[in-house]
Amino acid sequence: MTATWAALAAAVNAAPDLHGAACAGQWGLFDPADHDAKETAASTQQRHERAIAICRDCPVLAECVTWASTLRPGEVSGVVAGVVYRPPTRSLPPFQRRETA
Ligand code: SF4
Repeated sequence: MTATWAALAAAVNAAPDLHGAACAGQWGLFDPADHDAKETAASTQQRHERAIAICRDCPVLAECVTWASTLRPGEVSGVVAGVVYRPPTRSLPPFQRRETA
């Protein structure tokens, strides 16, 4: 449990102060494609274009860009700081040839 609390504390401490973020209350626009709801690629793109437009006018864009630059690949998905981050793809184990007798 200690490691979990330490990880949580580290995440909270690393979170940027984005007071005044223009995306507040509009999270749905920023989410990655919703394949469960069978969202079409076109509607996802339209949604993300609206989110990116919000980012362009965001008063804390610079701080958000700085924070986003510290993230590891796959750590976020959807629109962040005016950029669309794709969800990580599941990697498959390397192909292994099966020996035959
Ligand atoms: S730049 Fe975009 S994602 Fe970042 S806080 Fe502003 S609106 Fe939200």
